[in-house]
Amino acid sequence: MRAIKADITTLKLDAIVNAANSSLLGGGGVDGAIHRAAGPELVQACRLLGGCQTGDARITKGYRLPARYVIHTVGPVWRGGGHEEPELLASCYRRSLELAVANGVRSLAFPSISTGIYGYPVELAAEVAVSTVKAVRFDGEMVFCCFSVGDLQVYERLL
Ligand code: ADP
Repeated sequence: MRAIKADITTLKLDAIVNAANSSLLGGGGVDGAIHRAAGPELVQACRLLGGCQTGDARITKGYRLPARYVIHTVGPVWRGGGHEEPELLASCYRRSLELAVANGVRSLAFPSISTGIYGYPVELAAEVAVSTVKAVRFDGEMVFCCFSVGDLQVYERLL
């Protein structure tokens, strides 16, 4: 398990995780970047999934991405911390890893789910991310893909 600073769309791993919204039809931030890089086949595949609830995940192919699969998970919107945000965020990491294992994924990158547009404080989100992933058995390469040096420092402190 390690943290890196990168654009997640460039990673040549078995799977990358997308911080999606519940429609799964694309959005801003990492979601927009993944859809742009994967091409229009991705949104077509996502349409067939019929959405996804907060805390849950779905898997598609990666299409034009270097990654073979995209695991789409819907993080919670930060509403002060008293609305089950930590439990829902932990569920995103667990469900994503379950789908990864079920699909034979041996290398996987997570973005910092919910800490962009959804407003989850990165220090708190990273604690949930690292402790949740550490508690799951995953035989393979696990990467936290940070988009800024500041986020990378937060993750590195915890790893
Ligand atoms: P959310 O809606 O779950 O908050 P965002 O995409 O707004 O999702 O932000 C989640 C994290 O992804 C933020 O730390 C943001 O800086 C980061 N991010 C944005 N674009 C990329 C990218 N291309 N690769 C990796 N991380 C990214």
